Amino acid sequence: MGLFSGMNKFGLNEIKQDEIFANPEEKKAEEKAEEKKKEATELDYLIDRSYSCPVCEEEFKSKTVKSRSVRLIGSDDDLRPRYQQLDCLKYDVVVCPNCGYASLARTYKTIYDSQKKLVRETISKGFHYVEPEGVYSYDDAIERYQIAFANAMAIKQIDSEKAYLCLRMGWTIRGKAETLKEGTPGYEEDLKKCKEDENEALKLAMDGFLAARNKEEAPYAGMDQSTLDYLIAVLSARFGKIDVASKLIAALISNRAANPRIRERARDLKDKIVAGLKS
Ligand SMILES: [Zn+2]
Repeated sequence: MGLFSGMNKFGLNEIKQDEIFANPEEKKAEEKAEEKKKEATELDYLIDRSYSCPVCEEEFKSKTVKSRSVRLIGSDDDLRPRYQQLDCLKYDVVVCPNCGYASLARTYKTIYDSQKKLVRETISKGFHYVEPEGVYSYDDAIERYQIAFANAMAIKQIDSEKAYLCLRMGWTIRGKAETLKEGTPGYEEDLKKCKEDENEALKLAMDGFLAARNKEEAPYAGMDQSTLDYLIAVLSARFGKIDVASKLIAALISNRAANPRIRERARDLKDKIVAGLKS
């Protein structure tokens, strides 16, 4: 029993012993120091990779994760990867600071001459961007996704690639939400905004992947058919389209040619949907 325990029955927060004579300035300094340390560690996992912009030919450097130095520790239901050391999704987008051409690093070099012209006409005019110093905050990363998405629209990118960008942007927003600290000013509003933005991004991803499934052939943004079908299923379930999800899951589970890892996930998803329907 602590001296101040049981105070919640009066609707008051419990007072913690070490808070009574603590200096709030000191606490702030401690928090700041910890953040600085975290940033320094994140910086250790990054390198500056040199790029030559395929649109304006400017040479520039972009921060990239040293992929061999980070460890994948798991993934969410919708395949969002989680790494032990940092959130690699923050460093996915490459932006040319000169002309504004931007995309995921995977597709940066893949641009046709006709598309380069579209970038020059619609993006480059008036483009202004300063590469953030040091590590990217989540807001920096989200801005870079916005620039990449504007480019995808400008060059009339195919649906699967646009959907994939939305998916990764949604995952990045989820990453931001996970770093918000309960009890800090504006926490509730920030969390609500993140949830809304994440839903918006993932809903767009679902619609885009469905459109791509009807129009394109595998690979879809580098993914095989079973991975795409699983993603559509998991996103459909999230947005209450249980019929779409169930059909895709049943087909995945019975398809022996499907990726075994994805079939396993499809079984888990089926169990979750059934449990959700029961409750
Ligand atoms: Zn450029």
